[in-house]
Amino acid sequence: MKHIFVFALVTLLLAACATSPTGRRQLMLVSEQQAISASKTAYAQTLKPLEEEGKVDNDPVLKKRITTITERLVAQAVKMRPETAGWEWSIKVIDDPEVVNAWCMAGGKMAIYTGLVQKVKPSDDEIAQVMGHEIAHALANHQAEKMSVAMATTVGVAAAGAVSDRPGLAMAGASAAAALAIKLPNSRTAETEADRIGIELAARAGYDPRAAVTLWEKMGKVGGSHPPQFLSTHPSPENRQQTLKALVPQMLPYYQSKEPRPVFKL
Ligand SMILES: [Zn+2]
Repeated sequence: MKHIFVFALVTLLLAACATSPTGRRQLMLVSEQQAISASKTAYAQTLKPLEEEGKVDNDPVLKKRITTITERLVAQAVKMRPETAGWEWSIKVIDDPEVVNAWCMAGGKMAIYTGLVQKVKPSDDEIAQVMGHEIAHALANHQAEKMSVAMATTVGVAAAGAVSDRPGLAMAGASAAAALAIKLPNSRTAETEADRIGIELAARAGYDPRAAVTLWEKMGKVGGSHPPQFLSTHPSPENRQQTLKALVPQMLPYYQSKEPRPVFKL
């Protein structure tokens, strides 16, 4: 029985490769559409208790600041991948001064924690790098990739359900995997991809690409013995700062362009 399952899983893994926007092969047990619908559930489940505790969007000035930056980034994301215009993009500011984190789930459901703003003290350009990087993970379908890993390991049975006639089981596993995916670290390869796409989104949205370098410097200085959650879910690829610095000259023309910066209303 176990052999049959392993065989089925291996067959599934072989059949389940996809290619990322940068041409990298990805393990995909979960389609992007499945990741998006599972994320919708996971997002609602994540926010509900926080809303009940009054911890969502409390500071109108901060909410406005984050929304303004994010609306410019999403407009560029939609230019890069036009089908994402149909995503239900949204941004919430979660009031938790201890949490230095931000994320964007599959389908464009985003959040940033007040801890990131209070402890990192980012400029608007640096916030644009944070959110651009998060949006890049979603554009490159990294969440479906992490869900695939989660399902292939901890909830492998549900992954098998995904190709069987038990869609209910598969879906329960999927929303658990979606909630888990934002807590799992990205691979360093995924990080490099998100850095590359994120700095471009931000530059095209009118934010200084040099802020990508200063952001990671500031992030590294926060926390001391307790590194911020952001760094545990976004492990540093080799030479991150140098790679970002090397991208700056390519990105500056987008940033310095006099063209208007469109917004995607959230
Ligand atoms: Zn990342």
